[in-house]
Amino acid sequence: MSEHKDITAQPPSSLDAFSFYNPTKILFGKGMNKQIGKEISMRKHTNVLLVAGGGSIKKNGVYEEVTQSLKENGVEWTELWGVQPNPVLSKVYEGIEIVRKSSPAITAILAVGGGSVIDTCKAIAGGIDHPDIWQCFEGLSALTEKIYPLFVVCTVSATGSEMNMGCVVTNNDKKWNLKHQSLFPVATTIDPQAQYSLPWRTTKDGAIDAIVHCVEGILGAEGFEETTIALAESLILTIIQATNKLQHNPSDYTARANLCWAATLGLNGVAQVALNSGDWATHMLEHALSSMYPELSHGTGLAILLPSYIRWVMKHKVTDSSAPSSSQTPSETVVQRRKPHLAVLRRLSRNVFGIKSGDVLEGVDAMERLFQSWGAPTRFSQLEHESKAYKMMLTCSKGKDDTVCEELNEEEAKVLAKRYFAKKYQGSNGKLEENDVVDWVRLASK
Ligand SMILES: [Zn+2]
Repeated sequence: MSEHKDITAQPPSSLDAFSFYNPTKILFGKGMNKQIGKEISMRKHTNVLLVAGGGSIKKNGVYEEVTQSLKENGVEWTELWGVQPNPVLSKVYEGIEIVRKSSPAITAILAVGGGSVIDTCKAIAGGIDHPDIWQCFEGLSALTEKIYPLFVVCTVSATGSEMNMGCVVTNNDKKWNLKHQSLFPVATTIDPQAQYSLPWRTTKDGAIDAIVHCVEGILGAEGFEETTIALAESLILTIIQATNKLQHNPSDYTARANLCWAATLGLNGVAQVALNSGDWATHMLEHALSSMYPELSHGTGLAILLPSYIRWVMKHKVTDSSAPSSSQTPSETVVQRRKPHLAVLRRLSRNVFGIKSGDVLEGVDAMERLFQSWGAPTRFSQLEHESKAYKMMLTCSKGKDDTVCEELNEEEAKVLAKRYFAKKYQGSNGKLEENDVVDWVRLASK
């Protein structure tokens, strides 16, 4: 464990110079899940570890379809069930042990599920030949050369994990991510019909996640990366339109297919090309938040934290491309020079949220109304009053008739900030301080 390579280092990413790499083969559309056996066998694998979640794939026909396809193509499999949302390290270790002890040897991993299942499989694939995969999440060790090939049957479109090189796993109070270019799936099938039976809350959480991926990319833009910004904006518009339709008819194939494909493109790299690596502070704080309150879904946390982050940025950090005025103090000048650029936020407001004047805060209001129309709380005070996050993040006082929780509980916000800083994330918009995070979370409280 003597290597201290920076395994999270990114290649250059602005229009001056960027690299783009994505080797995942996608098989998309009606009946495509039946192709997974062929994709595996044509690469000479005859024994795989099939990983799944709580059992919904046995109700919607996907399990039957996939195992039939494996049989027809001469592929044997061992099953590992029980991956939960906010997937945990213990399940990763379980999978690693099964593969290490397997005879005949398992040579590939098959994820059948959504982001949590896929992320668990990436960590298994990287961990079989590594002394302790968690060391890679900590940045203390690099992945070994031998990463097991990963195949995916994607049953929830949201995280983009089916076509990217990242994964997020929780180990006690650390919900951390790992990226490596050997973690791209080899091949992924996506049949939108398999997502008809998803509960509405899963569909809308996925849509919010995918929108936030696109926005966080744009938050790193300087304004001249037209190709990527325009692509990200159009993905967001597509996600909004499709999700609005699915709210009334979950089996609308066209809407479902457009949401699936837009969510994949939202985080397979194309919507982030040349955007200075984006600004992922919202995702990082959400990971800290849901590590404290696992009952919060990823989408709920994001719906609360993104609008407040943009408001906070507008208050403290936004910059115009024009030179700072001479009346500013030197420290203000430094702050003013940080991205994101006002022009980028203004066009997002205009092009996506229909605010003709391009007023950024009006755009954020519209984003919040959209999330609320899908049933997502956008403030801590709107959470279920019984939830731990509601009780802990807000200071409660007994009113005449009821207990009211509205003001931010600063102590708990500081605990949250500590978890955020543990990962040492430094976005393209500069490092945040503890007070910044507390102030940001205050804007999300009521
Ligand atoms: Zn996400």
